[in-house]
Amino acid sequence: MRDLSMTRHFTAFLRRLSGPVVLPCMLASLSPACAPVATSDTYDAKGARPQRTVSLTTNRVASHLSDAVVHLPPGAIAITIDDGPSSLAKDFLAASEAFGRLPLTFFPAAHHFFEEGQAICDSVRAQIDQGGSVTWTRSDGVAVPADQIDIASLRIKPGLEDIAGVLSKSYVEIGHHSFCHFVGTETNRNRAFANLPTEVRHLELVGAARALRRFKDLALTRSDRTVEFGDPLPVNLAPVLRTAGNSWWGPHRDRPQWVEHWNSQLANAGFAYVGPVGWTVPAKGGADIFCDRSQGVAACVDQYIEGYRADLRAGRGSVSLHHELGGHQHAGWMFEVFYRFLTRLTEQSRAAGKDACPRVIPLSCGVMGTCKASDYPCLHEQAINPPSWEEFSARRQMVN
Ligand SMILES: [Zn+2]
Repeated sequence: MRDLSMTRHFTAFLRRLSGPVVLPCMLASLSPACAPVATSDTYDAKGARPQRTVSLTTNRVASHLSDAVVHLPPGAIAITIDDGPSSLAKDFLAASEAFGRLPLTFFPAAHHFFEEGQAICDSVRAQIDQGGSVTWTRSDGVAVPADQIDIASLRIKPGLEDIAGVLSKSYVEIGHHSFCHFVGTETNRNRAFANLPTEVRHLELVGAARALRRFKDLALTRSDRTVEFGDPLPVNLAPVLRTAGNSWWGPHRDRPQWVEHWNSQLANAGFAYVGPVGWTVPAKGGADIFCDRSQGVAACVDQYIEGYRADLRAGRGSVSLHHELGGHQHAGWMFEVFYRFLTRLTEQSRAAGKDACPRVIPLSCGVMGTCKASDYPCLHEQAINPPSWEEFSARRQMVN
Protein backbone atom coordinates (compact mmCIF):
# COMPACT_ATOMS: atom_id res chain seq x y z
CA MET A 1 0.00 0.00 0.00
CA ARG A 2 2.82 2.32 0.91
CA ASP A 3 4.40 1.72 -2.46
CA LEU A 4 1.25 2.60 -4.29
CA SER A 5 0.65 5.86 -2.49
CA MET A 6 4.27 6.84 -3.02
CA THR A 7 3.88 6.13 -6.68
CA ARG A 8 0.86 8.38 -6.85
CA HIS A 9 2.73 11.05 -5.02
CA PHE A 10 5.60 10.88 -7.48
CA THR A 11 3.25 10.94 -10.40
CA ALA A 12 1.68 14.12 -9.12
CA PHE A 13 5.09 15.57 -8.42
CA LEU A 14 6.45 14.72 -11.84
CA ARG A 15 3.39 16.14 -13.49
CA ARG A 16 4.08 19.44 -11.83
CA LEU A 17 7.69 19.31 -12.91
CA SER A 18 7.59 17.85 -16.37
CA GLY A 19 4.32 18.82 -17.93
CA PRO A 20 2.28 16.44 -20.03
CA VAL A 21 4.77 15.71 -22.78
CA VAL A 22 7.68 14.07 -21.04
CA LEU A 23 5.67 12.42 -18.34
CA PRO A 24 4.10 9.41 -20.03
CA CYS A 25 7.32 7.72 -21.01
CA MET A 26 9.31 8.83 -18.02
CA LEU A 27 6.83 6.82 -16.05
CA ALA A 28 6.48 4.12 -18.63
CA SER A 29 7.08 1.32 -16.21
CA LEU A 30 4.19 2.57 -14.13
CA SER A 31 1.88 3.50 -16.92
CA PRO A 32 0.12 0.81 -18.96
CA ALA A 33 -0.71 3.42 -21.60
CA CYS A 34 2.96 3.81 -22.35
CA ALA A 35 4.00 0.16 -22.43
CA PRO A 36 4.71 -1.02 -25.95
CA VAL A 37 2.40 -3.70 -27.21
CA ALA A 38 4.02 -6.68 -28.86
CA THR A 39 3.05 -6.41 -32.49
CA SER A 40 4.94 -7.61 -35.46
CA ASP A 41 6.53 -5.69 -38.24
CA THR A 42 5.69 -2.20 -37.10
CA TYR A 43 9.25 -1.01 -37.40
CA ASP A 44 10.13 0.44 -40.73
CA ALA A 45 13.89 0.59 -41.02
CA LYS A 46 13.74 2.94 -43.98
CA GLY A 47 10.61 4.89 -43.32
CA ALA A 48 9.64 7.67 -41.02
CA ARG A 49 9.77 7.30 -37.31
CA PRO A 50 8.33 4.11 -35.93
CA GLN A 51 4.81 3.82 -34.70
CA ARG A 52 4.17 3.91 -31.04
CA THR A 53 3.84 0.16 -30.77
CA VAL A 54 7.21 -0.78 -32.21
CA SER A 55 8.50 -3.83 -30.47
CA LEU A 56 11.28 -6.34 -30.61
CA THR A 57 9.18 -8.65 -32.71
CA THR A 58 10.37 -7.76 -36.15
CA ASN A 59 12.76 -9.22 -38.63
CA ARG A 60 13.81 -5.75 -39.70
CA VAL A 61 15.76 -5.17 -36.54
CA ALA A 62 19.25 -6.42 -37.14
CA SER A 63 22.68 -6.30 -35.66
CA HIS A 64 24.10 -3.86 -38.13
CA LEU A 65 24.37 -0.37 -36.75
CA SER A 66 22.26 1.41 -39.29
CA ASP A 67 19.53 -1.22 -39.08
CA ALA A 68 19.14 -0.81 -35.35
CA VAL A 69 18.65 2.91 -35.57
CA VAL A 70 15.32 4.35 -34.68
CA HIS A 71 14.51 7.33 -36.79
CA LEU A 72 13.89 10.32 -34.58
CA PRO A 73 12.23 13.45 -35.99
CA PRO A 74 14.56 15.68 -38.05
CA GLY A 75 16.58 18.06 -35.88
CA ALA A 76 15.95 16.03 -32.76
CA ILE A 77 18.90 14.55 -30.97
CA ALA A 78 18.82 12.07 -28.11
CA ILE A 79 21.92 11.80 -25.94
CA THR A 80 22.77 8.35 -24.64
CA ILE A 81 25.48 7.40 -22.15
CA ASP A 82 26.38 3.74 -21.93
CA ASP A 83 28.04 1.21 -19.67
CA GLY A 84 27.79 2.89 -16.26
CA PRO A 85 26.70 3.56 -13.70
CA SER A 86 29.72 5.23 -12.21
CA SER A 87 30.74 8.27 -10.23
CA LEU A 88 31.08 10.08 -13.57
CA ALA A 89 27.29 10.33 -13.70
CA LYS A 90 27.50 13.54 -11.66
CA ASP A 91 29.77 15.09 -14.28
CA PHE A 92 27.32 14.28 -17.08
CA LEU A 93 24.55 15.77 -14.98
CA ALA A 94 26.63 18.88 -14.34
CA ALA A 95 27.16 19.23 -18.09
CA SER A 96 23.45 18.77 -18.71
CA GLU A 97 22.73 21.52 -16.18
CA ALA A 98 25.29 23.80 -17.80
CA PHE A 99 23.46 23.48 -21.10
CA GLY A 100 20.06 24.10 -19.58
CA ARG A 101 19.04 20.65 -18.29
CA LEU A 102 19.31 18.53 -21.38
CA PRO A 103 17.48 15.20 -21.32
CA LEU A 104 19.93 12.31 -20.93
CA THR A 105 19.39 8.58 -21.37
CA PHE A 106 21.78 6.31 -19.46
CA PHE A 107 22.27 2.66 -20.42
CA PRO A 108 24.01 1.00 -17.48
CA ALA A 109 25.27 -2.59 -17.59
CA ALA A 110 23.24 -4.06 -14.74
CA HIS A 111 25.96 -6.26 -13.23
CA HIS A 112 27.67 -3.03 -12.17
CA PHE A 113 24.93 -2.58 -9.57
CA PHE A 114 25.98 -5.52 -7.43
CA GLU A 115 28.91 -6.70 -5.34
CA GLU A 116 28.65 -10.15 -6.90
CA GLY A 117 28.06 -8.78 -10.42
CA GLN A 118 31.54 -9.09 -11.83
CA ALA A 119 32.07 -12.55 -10.35
CA ILE A 120 28.75 -13.75 -11.78
CA CYS A 121 29.59 -12.49 -15.24
CA ASP A 122 33.17 -13.79 -15.18
CA SER A 123 31.88 -17.19 -14.19
CA VAL A 124 29.10 -17.18 -16.78
CA ARG A 125 31.50 -16.03 -19.51
CA ALA A 126 33.94 -18.85 -18.74
CA GLN A 127 31.16 -21.44 -18.90
CA ILE A 128 29.82 -20.03 -22.17
CA ASP A 129 33.26 -20.35 -23.68
CA GLN A 130 33.49 -23.96 -22.51
CA GLY A 131 30.00 -24.87 -23.67
CA GLY A 132 27.44 -26.72 -21.58
CA SER A 133 24.86 -25.49 -19.11
CA VAL A 134 25.64 -22.41 -17.09
CA THR A 135 25.28 -22.10 -13.34
CA TRP A 136 26.27 -19.67 -10.63
CA THR A 137 27.60 -20.96 -7.32
CA ARG A 138 26.30 -18.77 -4.55
CA SER A 139 28.21 -17.92 -1.39
CA ASP A 140 26.34 -20.73 0.42
CA GLY A 141 27.84 -23.20 -2.03
CA VAL A 142 24.61 -23.91 -3.91
CA ALA A 143 24.89 -23.85 -7.69
CA VAL A 144 21.82 -22.39 -9.42
CA PRO A 145 21.15 -22.11 -13.16
CA ALA A 146 21.91 -18.64 -14.54
CA ASP A 147 18.23 -17.92 -15.10
CA GLN A 148 17.46 -18.62 -11.45
CA ILE A 149 19.92 -16.20 -9.92
CA ASP A 150 17.91 -14.31 -7.36
CA ILE A 151 18.51 -10.73 -8.44
CA ALA A 152 16.61 -9.45 -5.41
CA SER A 153 19.12 -11.00 -3.03
CA LEU A 154 22.29 -9.63 -4.65
CA ARG A 155 24.17 -7.08 -2.58
CA ILE A 156 24.06 -3.51 -3.80
CA LYS A 157 27.51 -2.00 -4.31
CA PRO A 158 28.55 0.71 -1.86
CA GLY A 159 27.99 4.12 -3.34
CA LEU A 160 25.27 3.01 -5.76
CA GLU A 161 22.58 4.74 -3.71
CA ASP A 162 24.39 8.01 -4.20
CA ILE A 163 24.62 7.45 -7.95
CA ALA A 164 20.94 6.52 -8.07
CA GLY A 165 20.24 9.73 -6.22
CA VAL A 166 22.23 11.71 -8.78
CA LEU A 167 20.28 10.05 -11.59
CA SER A 168 16.92 10.74 -9.94
CA LYS A 169 16.19 13.78 -12.04
CA SER A 170 13.08 14.33 -14.08
CA TYR A 171 15.15 14.89 -17.22
CA VAL A 172 17.21 11.69 -16.81
CA GLU A 173 16.05 8.24 -17.86
CA ILE A 174 17.60 4.79 -17.58
CA GLY A 175 17.35 2.23 -20.38
CA HIS A 176 18.02 -1.52 -20.55
CA HIS A 177 21.54 -2.53 -21.61
CA SER A 178 21.72 -6.19 -20.49
CA PHE A 179 23.15 -7.69 -17.33
CA CYS A 180 26.63 -8.94 -18.26
CA HIS A 181 27.07 -7.03 -21.51
CA PHE A 182 28.22 -10.01 -23.57
CA VAL A 183 29.27 -8.98 -27.06
CA GLY A 184 29.52 -11.55 -29.81
CA THR A 185 32.20 -11.06 -32.44
CA GLU A 186 33.39 -12.99 -35.44
CA THR A 187 35.87 -14.78 -33.21
CA ASN A 188 33.54 -15.08 -30.23
CA ARG A 189 30.29 -16.10 -31.82
CA ASN A 190 29.23 -18.08 -28.78
CA ARG A 191 28.72 -14.76 -26.98
CA ALA A 192 26.32 -13.40 -29.58
CA PHE A 193 22.85 -13.18 -28.11
CA ALA A 194 21.29 -15.78 -30.36
CA ASN A 195 24.03 -18.26 -29.45
CA LEU A 196 23.91 -17.79 -25.70
CA PRO A 197 22.54 -20.68 -23.68
CA THR A 198 18.87 -20.15 -22.85
CA GLU A 199 19.53 -19.56 -19.18
CA VAL A 200 22.06 -16.84 -20.01
CA ARG A 201 19.71 -15.05 -22.40
CA HIS A 202 17.24 -14.99 -19.55
CA LEU A 203 19.83 -13.40 -17.25
CA GLU A 204 20.74 -10.83 -19.88
CA LEU A 205 17.16 -9.73 -20.48
CA VAL A 206 14.91 -10.57 -17.54
CA GLY A 207 17.68 -10.50 -14.92
CA ALA A 208 18.77 -7.07 -16.12
CA ALA A 209 15.18 -5.81 -16.09
CA ARG A 210 14.79 -6.97 -12.49
CA ALA A 211 18.07 -5.30 -11.62
CA LEU A 212 16.82 -2.05 -13.15
CA ARG A 213 13.76 -2.17 -10.94
CA ARG A 214 16.03 -2.41 -7.90
CA PHE A 215 18.06 0.51 -9.18
CA LYS A 216 14.90 2.50 -9.73
CA ASP A 217 13.88 2.06 -6.13
CA LEU A 218 17.32 2.61 -4.71
CA ALA A 219 17.19 6.35 -4.33
CA LEU A 220 14.44 5.85 -1.78
CA THR A 221 15.60 2.82 0.13
CA ARG A 222 17.98 4.41 2.52
CA SER A 223 15.31 6.34 4.27
CA ASP A 224 11.86 5.53 5.50
CA ARG A 225 10.66 9.07 5.12
CA THR A 226 7.53 9.84 3.22
CA VAL A 227 8.18 11.63 -0.01
CA GLU A 228 7.36 15.28 -0.17
CA PHE A 229 7.37 17.79 -2.95
CA GLY A 230 10.97 18.66 -3.76
CA ASP A 231 12.42 15.36 -2.55
CA PRO A 232 14.58 13.28 -4.87
CA LEU A 233 12.57 11.47 -7.50
CA PRO A 234 12.74 7.75 -8.06
CA VAL A 235 14.87 6.80 -11.04
CA ASN A 236 13.00 7.01 -14.33
CA LEU A 237 13.11 3.75 -16.26
CA ALA A 238 12.80 4.12 -20.02
CA PRO A 239 11.21 1.23 -21.94
CA VAL A 240 14.04 1.08 -24.47
CA LEU A 241 16.59 -1.66 -24.93
CA ARG A 242 20.03 -1.24 -26.38
CA THR A 243 21.74 -4.50 -27.04
CA ALA A 244 25.31 -4.73 -25.78
CA GLY A 245 27.62 -3.58 -28.55
CA ASN A 246 24.63 -3.88 -30.89
CA SER A 247 25.81 -7.43 -31.41
CA TRP A 248 23.38 -9.69 -29.73
CA TRP A 249 21.96 -10.98 -32.93
CA GLY A 250 25.38 -11.95 -34.20
CA PRO A 251 25.29 -14.35 -37.12
CA HIS A 252 21.63 -15.13 -36.44
CA ARG A 253 20.11 -11.77 -36.99
CA ASP A 254 17.74 -13.27 -39.49
CA ARG A 255 15.98 -15.19 -36.76
CA PRO A 256 13.12 -13.02 -35.57
CA GLN A 257 11.74 -15.86 -33.48
CA TRP A 258 14.55 -15.40 -31.00
CA VAL A 259 13.61 -11.81 -30.55
CA GLU A 260 9.94 -12.60 -30.37
CA HIS A 261 10.43 -15.28 -27.79
CA TRP A 262 12.48 -13.08 -25.52
CA ASN A 263 10.25 -10.11 -25.89
CA SER A 264 7.38 -12.24 -24.65
CA GLN A 265 9.54 -13.49 -21.78
CA LEU A 266 10.17 -9.92 -20.79
CA ALA A 267 6.51 -9.03 -21.11
CA ASN A 268 5.55 -12.04 -18.99
CA ALA A 269 7.98 -10.87 -16.35
CA GLY A 270 6.31 -7.47 -16.33
CA PHE A 271 8.79 -5.63 -18.51
CA ALA A 272 8.21 -4.37 -22.04
CA TYR A 273 10.98 -2.73 -23.95
CA VAL A 274 11.36 -1.36 -27.45
CA GLY A 275 14.58 -2.16 -29.18
CA PRO A 276 17.23 -2.59 -30.09
CA VAL A 277 17.94 1.10 -30.25
CA GLY A 278 21.32 1.78 -31.80
CA TRP A 279 22.96 5.12 -32.49
CA THR A 280 23.97 7.25 -35.45
CA VAL A 281 26.52 9.58 -33.91
CA PRO A 282 29.52 9.56 -34.15
CA ALA A 283 29.32 9.07 -37.88
CA LYS A 284 32.37 6.97 -38.36
CA GLY A 285 33.13 3.90 -36.34
CA GLY A 286 29.83 3.65 -34.56
CA ALA A 287 31.21 0.44 -33.17
CA ASP A 288 34.40 2.21 -32.18
CA ILE A 289 33.44 3.68 -28.87
CA PHE A 290 36.73 5.46 -28.48
CA CYS A 291 36.28 7.22 -31.79
CA ASP A 292 39.89 6.35 -32.62
CA ARG A 293 41.58 8.28 -29.91
CA SER A 294 44.79 8.58 -31.89
CA GLN A 295 43.04 11.24 -33.97
CA GLY A 296 42.58 13.47 -30.94
CA VAL A 297 39.62 15.18 -29.32
CA ALA A 298 38.94 17.71 -32.08
CA ALA A 299 38.82 15.06 -34.81
CA CYS A 300 36.53 12.93 -32.72
CA VAL A 301 34.17 15.84 -32.06
CA ASP A 302 34.17 16.38 -35.84
CA GLN A 303 32.93 12.83 -36.27
CA TYR A 304 30.08 13.47 -33.87
CA ILE A 305 29.14 16.67 -35.69
CA GLU A 306 29.38 14.94 -39.05
CA GLY A 307 27.06 12.20 -37.80
CA TYR A 308 24.51 14.78 -36.77
CA ARG A 309 24.75 16.56 -40.13
CA ALA A 310 24.47 13.30 -42.05
CA ASP A 311 21.25 12.55 -40.20
CA LEU A 312 19.93 16.01 -41.01
CA ARG A 313 20.74 15.51 -44.70
CA ALA A 314 18.89 12.20 -44.55
CA GLY A 315 15.88 13.99 -43.04
CA ARG A 316 16.08 12.38 -39.64
CA GLY A 317 17.16 13.02 -36.08
CA SER A 318 20.17 11.61 -34.27
CA VAL A 319 21.04 9.34 -31.40
CA SER A 320 24.46 10.13 -30.03
CA LEU A 321 26.53 7.59 -28.13
CA HIS A 322 28.78 8.40 -25.18
CA HIS A 323 30.32 6.30 -22.44
CA GLU A 324 30.88 7.00 -18.79
CA LEU A 325 33.17 4.05 -18.01
CA GLY A 326 34.18 5.25 -14.56
CA GLY A 327 37.78 4.41 -13.80
CA HIS A 328 38.65 3.76 -17.43
CA GLN A 329 41.81 5.49 -18.65
CA HIS A 330 39.86 7.11 -21.49
CA ALA A 331 36.89 8.19 -19.39
CA GLY A 332 38.03 11.80 -18.98
CA TRP A 333 38.88 12.07 -22.63
CA MET A 334 35.49 10.76 -23.71
CA PHE A 335 33.79 13.20 -21.37
CA GLU A 336 35.68 16.10 -22.96
CA VAL A 337 34.50 14.94 -26.39
CA PHE A 338 30.94 14.88 -25.03
CA TYR A 339 31.17 18.40 -23.64
CA ARG A 340 32.82 19.88 -26.72
CA PHE A 341 30.22 18.18 -28.92
CA LEU A 342 27.45 19.95 -26.99
CA THR A 343 29.35 23.22 -27.35
CA ARG A 344 29.62 22.80 -31.13
CA LEU A 345 25.97 21.80 -31.41
CA THR A 346 24.98 24.93 -29.50
CA GLU A 347 27.00 27.06 -31.92
CA GLN A 348 25.25 25.30 -34.78
CA SER A 349 21.94 25.95 -33.15
CA ARG A 350 22.64 29.69 -33.00
CA ALA A 351 23.71 29.72 -36.62
CA ALA A 352 20.80 27.63 -37.85
CA GLY A 353 17.97 29.62 -36.35
CA LYS A 354 14.68 28.27 -35.18
CA ASP A 355 13.74 26.21 -38.22
CA ALA A 356 16.77 23.96 -38.39
CA CYS A 357 18.19 24.00 -34.89
CA PRO A 358 19.12 20.90 -32.89
CA ARG A 359 16.72 20.05 -30.09
CA VAL A 360 17.69 17.54 -27.41
CA ILE A 361 14.83 15.17 -26.59
CA PRO A 362 14.57 12.12 -24.32
CA LEU A 363 15.30 8.97 -26.31
CA SER A 364 12.25 7.09 -25.10
CA CYS A 365 9.69 9.67 -26.14
CA GLY A 366 11.38 9.96 -29.55
CA VAL A 367 11.33 6.20 -30.00
CA MET A 368 7.80 5.76 -28.75
CA GLY A 369 6.54 8.72 -30.74
CA THR A 370 5.08 10.39 -27.66
CA CYS A 371 6.75 13.73 -28.26
CA LYS A 372 7.62 16.05 -31.11
CA ALA A 373 10.96 17.76 -31.56
CA SER A 374 9.20 21.10 -31.41
CA ASP A 375 8.10 20.29 -27.87
CA TYR A 376 11.70 21.00 -26.90
CA PRO A 377 13.67 24.23 -27.24
CA CYS A 378 16.48 24.82 -29.68
CA LEU A 379 19.77 24.06 -28.00
CA HIS A 380 20.91 27.67 -28.06
CA GLU A 381 17.63 28.75 -26.49
CA GLN A 382 17.91 26.12 -23.81
CA ALA A 383 21.53 26.81 -23.06
CA ILE A 384 22.04 29.78 -20.78
CA ASN A 385 25.57 30.78 -21.65
CA PRO A 386 27.22 27.41 -21.05
CA PRO A 387 30.82 27.76 -19.88
CA SER A 388 33.64 26.77 -22.21
CA TRP A 389 35.22 23.39 -21.67
CA GLU A 390 38.20 25.05 -20.02
CA GLU A 391 36.00 26.90 -17.56
CA PHE A 392 33.77 23.93 -16.92
CA SER A 393 36.61 21.47 -16.32
CA ALA A 394 38.47 23.89 -14.07
CA ARG A 395 35.32 24.30 -11.98
CA ARG A 396 34.82 20.52 -11.81
CA GLN A 397 38.34 20.01 -10.53
CA MET A 398 37.74 22.58 -7.82
CA VAL A 399 34.63 20.75 -6.71
CA ASN A 400 36.14 17.27 -6.87
ZN1 LIG B 1 27.63 -0.99 -23.92
